[in-house]
Amino acid sequence: MSDYRFPYKDASFLINHILDFDQACADAGLDEVNSELADAILEEAGRLGSEVFAPLNVVGDTKGATLEGDGVHETPGFAEAYQQYAEMGWAALCAGEEYGGQAMPRVLGAATTEIWYSACTALSLCPLLTTGAVEAIAKHGTDELKSAYLPDMISGNWTGSMCLTESAAGSDLAAVACKAVPKDDHFLISGQKIYITWGDHQMTENIIHLVLARLPDAPAGVRGISLFLVPKFLLDENGRPGERNDVYCVGIEHKLGIHGSPTCTMSFGDNGGAVGYLVGKPNQGLMAMFTMMNEARQGVGIQGLGVAEASFQQAVPYAKERLQGTRSDGSRYPIIEFPDVRRMLMLMKSATEAMRGLAYLAAAETDLEHNASDPEKAQQHALRVGLYTPIVKGWLTELSQELTYLGTQVHGGMGYVEETGSAQFYRDARIMTIYEGTTGIQGLDLVGRKTLGDGGVALQGLLDEMQATVEDMAAVDGLGEMADALRAAVDQGVQARAWLLEKGSQDRNDAGGASVNFMMLMGYLCGGWVMGKSAIKATQLLAAGGGDEAFLKTKQVTTRFYFEHLLPRTAAYLATILAGSESMMALDAEQF
Ligand SMILES: Cc1cc2nc3c(=O)[nH]c(=O)nc-3n(C[C@H](O)[C@H](O)[C@H](O)COP(=O)(O)OP(=O)(O)OC[C@H]3O[C@@H](n4cnc5c(N)ncnc54)[C@H](O)[C@@H]3O)c2cc1C
Repeated sequence: MSDYRFPYKDASFLINHILDFDQACADAGLDEVNSELADAILEEAGRLGSEVFAPLNVVGDTKGATLEGDGVHETPGFAEAYQQYAEMGWAALCAGEEYGGQAMPRVLGAATTEIWYSACTALSLCPLLTTGAVEAIAKHGTDELKSAYLPDMISGNWTGSMCLTESAAGSDLAAVACKAVPKDDHFLISGQKIYITWGDHQMTENIIHLVLARLPDAPAGVRGISLFLVPKFLLDENGRPGERNDVYCVGIEHKLGIHGSPTCTMSFGDNGGAVGYLVGKPNQGLMAMFTMMNEARQGVGIQGLGVAEASFQQAVPYAKERLQGTRSDGSRYPIIEFPDVRRMLMLMKSATEAMRGLAYLAAAETDLEHNASDPEKAQQHALRVGLYTPIVKGWLTELSQELTYLGTQVHGGMGYVEETGSAQFYRDARIMTIYEGTTGIQGLDLVGRKTLGDGGVALQGLLDEMQATVEDMAAVDGLGEMADALRAAVDQGVQARAWLLEKGSQDRNDAGGASVNFMMLMGYLCGGWVMGKSAIKATQLLAAGGGDEAFLKTKQVTTRFYFEHLLPRTAAYLATILAGSESMMALDAEQF
């Protein structure tokens, strides 16, 4: 879609009024960063997204990556667009200053990331993985590795890849079998990784793979996995890419969507061993990789948001133009006049606003964690980030399936045929609930590690904050009914938490069977919470005569719609949780 436009007003409203960006920047000592700068940054990113990335979206779909004799060739035009992205400094936006980053708040990273994904998901996956790899190396790598690799990765000169999956090791990484044998100052890596996003391309002079593998004496299971940095080209004495390393793409997948993003089978060590360097401690690679995965999981959630927003923007003009109603005088009117088409468009509009709100809240929490001067405070924020991450990844990407489906549905038959571009959003969104941990894995993470793991303490803190918002809403004229609805939904969250602590901690089937439904309940609840905060702010600003009146009045409507049409879903999710897992597990496998 080449006429994509980032929803600046919504982003700016969230940043200024819900997150209190200026105060947060002042508290963090970021004296030169404020909402004015944020607006300017988003305008600039929006321009690159609309003018350079968006026109390539369909090109990526129709002329996907190909595997040639010298490796993977990306979609024509991608390299030039990526070059502009890197030269303009977008790759370095949130990275630390020590290695050339701009150290901007991650809230701005989240907002700009939405732009890239709305405009061209397939291309934008490449920088997503690089950002995650940078985080992992910065947190776990030696000083030597950091100074050798980070400056070029942060500048965008080199990209990164994440090599976890093997044919027998998908969700269950305990089965990773790639080998790492020590030799001199490095390791020799061998084995095959599958489904590696942007594992090879010609856009940059080097690619830095982060690879999970096992040392010869490693214990079985996840406690025996180590993380290695494996460059496509080994660095010469000047630190520049030189000799070709023994890692090659040997195949790329043909798939449902994101055709412009090469999904590579990577072979390591066919000619004696790929040179790799240990990142972090031996046998603790999964923990180091989690730094990358957590970053990427929030990023994939934002992908879900970006694609849903693009699908919405595509559906609106079609709904205004497509004539299907006939008045008594014989004149025709557009489908946007039909209540059911309004239902679909309002669902898309209010859901994307709620998704954006939650994504920004989560990013702001990451900023608070990073900027906290007191370790105890940093730990509290880290726990909240931990709670948000599976919800952002799971709920945003699941909702994106429904919203891109609706985008196609609004188009009728024209949505199913490829010309409008709507079908591409639907196809591109499909992978997002699968990679970076399936929805099932996000549910287990939320229930297991993040809820049962601490006896529900972090979750209770979040529910308490939501309860405080209920009281704030109740005190605002005109928001009483919405306050009651949020109160009921928070109570459903409280009931689900209590049930999980009682039943889920005793019965694995109960915990596992409830996990995705609990994650979805929490997603709709978090969405209601941020929309409730938005309703308060919009009402207060309108009463004070401040702000953009048209935008604020629209916000009042989208928040009300969310409360009437999306928030009630929490009740259904609670009912499924309380039903337990008995009927779910009652049949023998043979009975299916
Ligand atoms: C286009 C694409 C790009 C990808 N990019 C990358 C990449 O860059 N790097 C990389 O390393 N990998 C990548 N992957 C791999 C991806 O992360 C895996 O496909 C994903 O983790 C799921 O693993 P699997 O395919 O083996 O499915 P399986 O693990 O076999 O899962 C099948 C089903 O079983 C469920 N399931 C499995 N285990 C459990 C459990 N314990 N509890 C409940 N349910 C469970 C799953 O939820 C799913 O519904 C990519 C995959 C694709 C298709």
